[in-house]
Amino acid sequence: MLVLGIDTSCDDTGVGLVRGGRVLANKVASQTLLHQRFGGVVPELASREHTQVIDGLLEQALAEAGVRLRDVELVAATRGPGLIGALLVGYTYAKGLALALGKPFAAVHHLEGHLYAALADHPEALPPFLALIASGGHSHLFRVAAWGRYELLGATMDDAAGEAFDKVARLLGLGYPGGPEIEKLAAQGDPQAVPFGMPLQGQGPGQYAFSFSGLKTAALRAVEKGLNKADIAAGFQRVAVEHLASVVLRAAHDTGLQTLLVTGGVAQNRALRGRLEQAGLRLFFPPRGMATDNGAMIALAAWRRWSGQGDPLSLPAAAYLPLA
Ligand code: ATP
Ligand code: FE
Repeated sequence: MLVLGIDTSCDDTGVGLVRGGRVLANKVASQTLLHQRFGGVVPELASREHTQVIDGLLEQALAEAGVRLRDVELVAATRGPGLIGALLVGYTYAKGLALALGKPFAAVHHLEGHLYAALADHPEALPPFLALIASGGHSHLFRVAAWGRYELLGATMDDAAGEAFDKVARLLGLGYPGGPEIEKLAAQGDPQAVPFGMPLQGQGPGQYAFSFSGLKTAALRAVEKGLNKADIAAGFQRVAVEHLASVVLRAAHDTGLQTLLVTGGVAQNRALRGRLEQAGLRLFFPPRGMATDNGAMIALAAWRRWSGQGDPLSLPAAAYLPLA
């Protein structure tokens, strides 16, 4: 089955084509430069940019995959969560295509897309899994009992993991997105030089919560004291990674699940990968270009969940949309 997937939930336009669970093309137009000078994503500019680039990206994806638009058998798009104006561009575009082609339409949850990105190279993998989504807007730990059955085990109590990397990067005068910048600078620092306390974990049964705001404050204090920036980056990264790993490993222990998907932009962090690899779990990470927002992951999720029936075109997009 040839599936077209579209994601315009935030500041990246993503168009991907997937056949039988294999990624044929995955084109992403990043808006990082557009929003950089505002210090954050400007929703109206994001929507406008999506409308300007989406046609061209679709053409490129079709050319790269070597398929024609009329060969597409299912048109999928992110329904939410995200910026509503941005979401509506891709979501409505996909509905229009489905209608014009006479093909079914699939409304996909953005986080479900992130989840299935981790399995892009492993279509044979089967649930149950633990799944950590660590991105710009989420630090969520799910138990995936079966395709489409998600139980939220824990989430962040304050900032998302990626958001914390972005905020600390800004404190250090680094560029956006902050994760890769921190990772680069940390390689030159001493991770033990600056004291960072380990954040508290959510406690009690079923509670696997994260917290990153204390780390951000500790980084601010260290910057104010004029400590070495590479040491601050290395110390922050060490503790952020250890915090993520320790919550996830506690959940693995308690649930008996030894398979973990790690996804979202922070899944690209090599320190996090290294730390989890030590723990002896069976790990799945997204391949290159699929950890951050993209269209192929939306197509993959739609393909995994395909039951033979599409979603109604009347189903609205949703800025707020819980997964579990
Ligand atoms: P959401 O999916 O929650 O709405 P998003 O789609 O904006 O958020 P992603 O695109 O999945 O988030 O990830 C972007 C985030 O990942 C940014 O916060 C970025 O700093 C972080 N990130 C990217 N690479 C790395 C890295 N190597 N180390 C740590 N963080 C990283
Ligand atoms: Fe995302």
